Amino acid sequence: MSILVLGGAGYIGSHTVYELIDAGEDVVIVDNLQTGFREAVHPKAKFYEGDIRNREFMDSVLEKEDIDGVIHFAASSQVGESMKDPLKYYSNNLCGTEVLLESMVAHGIDKIVFSSTAATYGEPESIPIVETDRTLPTNCYGETKLSMEKMFKWTSKAHNLRFVSLRYFNACGAHPEGMIGEAHNPETHLIPLILQVPNGQREYISIFGNDYDTEDGTCVRDYIHVNDLAQAHILALKYLREGGASNIFNLGNGVGFSVKEVVETARKVTGHPIPAKEEERRAGDPSTLIASSEKAKEVLGWKPQFDDLETIISTAWKWHQSHPQGY
Ligand code: UDP
Repeated sequence: MSILVLGGAGYIGSHTVYELIDAGEDVVIVDNLQTGFREAVHPKAKFYEGDIRNREFMDSVLEKEDIDGVIHFAASSQVGESMKDPLKYYSNNLCGTEVLLESMVAHGIDKIVFSSTAATYGEPESIPIVETDRTLPTNCYGETKLSMEKMFKWTSKAHNLRFVSLRYFNACGAHPEGMIGEAHNPETHLIPLILQVPNGQREYISIFGNDYDTEDGTCVRDYIHVNDLAQAHILALKYLREGGASNIFNLGNGVGFSVKEVVETARKVTGHPIPAKEEERRAGDPSTLIASSEKAKEVLGWKPQFDDLETIISTAWKWHQSHPQGY
């Protein structure tokens, strides 16, 4: 039997596929290649190009393939874009998941692991954030991810289906061997933008806001390596295969770094001065987001391997040096 990975040509999806194949799984990928890359598809995975909103297409894949469980990354994920074009997010994220669930229920597929986000919490009630904290998203991206979680919850009650929702904090880094990495178009994430400076594609990095209520005034985030996220998906799948009930887990390192600390670490890793300019705050950024991942550690047995920011940035730098234009 195979694992179906939706969005397996994207950043976190492709890294998870590499880990699944290393773990001996057979993998089938569905991706519409709107934000994913053909080059990120593992050569040993079976690939279908198509959109999860297309019921006929999804049915045809589920009929042809012998699918044991689904890992679902196929969603739009840019906060800024979600505020400008919310309906794109409702269509891709919510309508896509609705069609997927109809097709899964019709084909009796009963396990799904799903990418959710720290953006489901909005402005945190307290730090570190635990899974039972209030969820009040401050942007449309987080809202659609929270609605997707609720769609899974009610569908799992009505049908014979169980889900694990993984709420990622700041995904970063690249495969340590350097064959796949982070590529977005346009790029909006801090670490790849910083690395564009030593790569000669950007003169300086903008620091969005220097008057937050943090030690150095810049936003604090919990940066978690993409391979550690990938491992959590494999453990979540194991948990569901062993009969685990539907559940939600945070995934982060539990350590916060400010924007200035991230820039400083990148200077150290690359040996480049990386000039920075302090600018206005970016709309919708909470000041501090740090996860408690104790639940994932206890219940799933998750052990993040990359808990050091320098190592995390080194893996990203390896990829960006060898792929300055992305794929
Ligand atoms: N950020 C920044 N300059 C940039 C891009 C991001 O100062 O060019 C900040 C952003 O305001 C946030 C942090 O870096 O505080 C991480 O942003 P990113 O977009 O990587 O992830 P997010 O926290 O939005 O998921």
